[in-house]
Amino acid sequence: MVYFIAVLVGLVLAEVATLITTIYLHRVLSHKSIRLHPAVTMFMRLGTWMLTSISPREWVAVHRKHHNFSDVDGDPHSPHIEGYWQIMIGNVYYYRREANNDNTLEKYAADLPFDRLDRIFLRRGTLGFSLTGVILVLLMGIGPGLTALATLAVVYLLLNAAINGAGHTFGYKSFENDATNLKLLALITFGEGLHNNHHARPASAKLSAFRGEFDPAWPVIRLLEKLRLAEVLSKVDEGWDDHRRRIPKTTVSPLGATTVKN
Ligand SMILES: [Zn+2]
Ligand SMILES: [Zn+2]
Repeated sequence: MVYFIAVLVGLVLAEVATLITTIYLHRVLSHKSIRLHPAVTMFMRLGTWMLTSISPREWVAVHRKHHNFSDVDGDPHSPHIEGYWQIMIGNVYYYRREANNDNTLEKYAADLPFDRLDRIFLRRGTLGFSLTGVILVLLMGIGPGLTALATLAVVYLLLNAAINGAGHTFGYKSFENDATNLKLLALITFGEGLHNNHHARPASAKLSAFRGEFDPAWPVIRLLEKLRLAEVLSKVDEGWDDHRRRIPKTTVSPLGATTVKN
């Protein structure tokens, strides 16, 4: 029972980490489609540090480069170039390979702020993640605490790999780009599974575009807006109207065959 609760705690933390990733690292920092209240920004910065150990500058740089070279030479993590399983299993390797490139950071993330808090604590990602481990062990004991931490790490990494791998391989397309929409993945990644939509309009703060699609981060963003803790900067609906170059609904099957439904 204790270990069951530990896995549950790990799953909840992985979802919180995924929500922080899509709102803060992705929509706020990478695409500047939302502005957050300073208090929420601080919460997101600490959350990123303690739950993901990611350096925002690195994540943003790698992600912006991915948009710049989607599925062509230069894409840091394309399943079309590297191979599907390579990305599903080795996503961290491909991410690190690009994140370690100073030129990429210089070129794609020079606009990101880097203050004293970053210099002293937040750039040491392993310190934040270890701190979470220590807290979990103190609260739950060594075995369950480490189980929760391992669950968080494994699930978070798998979800990210699925967005970069499956989200460019399986699913349906509403727009002409190499990414795909996976509704089920979107439900557990706070909208990130609607990756074809996202590549069609990266600056949109909302990732669902059509009836039947759900971006679970969107109600959270709207709530933050109502509480005056966030401001959506891109005009979402206008944006989607501009991009309604809808192609016949295309489904990519696991065997690589493509079916077109009208
Ligand atoms: Zn992509
Ligand atoms: Zn993006």
